[in-house]
Amino acid sequence: MFGGGIPFGHFGGMPGGGGAPAEDVDTTKLYETLEVDKSASKKDIRKAYMKLSRTHHPDKGGDEHKFKEISAAYEILSDDNKRAQYDKYGLEGVSGDDVGAAGGEDLFSMFFGGGGRSRRAGPRKGPSVNHPLKVSLEDLYNGKTVKLAVNRKIIEGTPSECTACKGQGAVMEVRQLGPGMITQMQRTCDQCKGQGMQCSFKSERKVLEVHVEKGMMHNDRISFRNMADEVPKCETGDVHFIIQEKDHELFKRKGADLLIVKEISLNQALCGFSWKMTHLDNRTLVIKSKPGEIIKPEMNTKEALPYVKVLPDEGMPSKGNPFVKGNLYVMFRVQFPETLSPEVVEQLKKLLPEPDVPEEYDPMEVEEVHLNEADLRLFGKGGAHQSSSEAHDSDDEGGAQPVQCQQS
Ligand SMILES: [Zn+2]
Repeated sequence: MFGGGIPFGHFGGMPGGGGAPAEDVDTTKLYETLEVDKSASKKDIRKAYMKLSRTHHPDKGGDEHKFKEISAAYEILSDDNKRAQYDKYGLEGVSGDDVGAAGGEDLFSMFFGGGGRSRRAGPRKGPSVNHPLKVSLEDLYNGKTVKLAVNRKIIEGTPSECTACKGQGAVMEVRQLGPGMITQMQRTCDQCKGQGMQCSFKSERKVLEVHVEKGMMHNDRISFRNMADEVPKCETGDVHFIIQEKDHELFKRKGADLLIVKEISLNQALCGFSWKMTHLDNRTLVIKSKPGEIIKPEMNTKEALPYVKVLPDEGMPSKGNPFVKGNLYVMFRVQFPETLSPEVVEQLKKLLPEPDVPEEYDPMEVEEVHLNEADLRLFGKGGAHQSSSEAHDSDDEGGAQPVQCQQS
């Protein structure tokens, strides 16, 4: 978010052509719903959402409506664009259709109750459709235009008012329940399925040019306004293609950053390495260690994190700003030799710094021991254990049994 002083309207693309919002536009309700300040950071908003959604989740006995409100508020405020629109234009600036959490519910009635406020002008909108679109990491790096054919229903001729319900979309049904008891029930008209209009449809095949922008992320949407099936008396819904990033065999992606895992030998870790790598745009990079550079088995931190190095600006391009790239992280896995011959050991001992200094002792006085293979997950499970059932058994069975440690 920008610091407040920047007039968004000047950048265009906002509803109402950047004009001032109506004075009574509410731009605080969503913040109140998430119990955060209007200046809250993305992180704060996420934290608040996580906390509230846990408390109000319907599976945990929470109120479903409240949960939907929280989800819709989070969906808007966690998205920079939607948040900017909301801050300026209130809910008017955010299309209900863009908020999946609303589940097709009108955003106004969701937050302000039915009839509390006039809805947006214009006809109702027909259902929108989402199509998943699998995209390779290469295509997300380089950008791509794909032509996709969609089949849609379009209205043929002019729709006419439904004769069965006289355009009401619903019919009253009188039912006799018993002697002297009748009930009137309203049900959706079968003839027009509640549309109030009757019309014939034809199928249309439409080829859409889908521009996958450089740097797009998993679940990003590419939308085509009014390209869904036509519905009489309604604005036609939209077609959305939802980016589904395919796994890449070399690169893992998080945001704009990329990560590769590189196995190197102990020799390479100590004496240097160079390896050729083909990047997502087909450039060949030769990654070389600097003289004297040593790759360690793990970072010198308390948590023993994997050893990583970074190549700045070799990550993914940023969406909307493709010249700003993320970074490429290389996580090293040093492959130690399984064993070494005595000759090699002799050589290494002379060459590597800080060789072992033999301890002096009398072998008759001390115990000489060797180490076995181990599994840290078994740490703490040594010693004699009594299982709880055995603990209640009679004493003469001798409940204590040695635990067998697995050695692998
Ligand atoms: Zn009808």
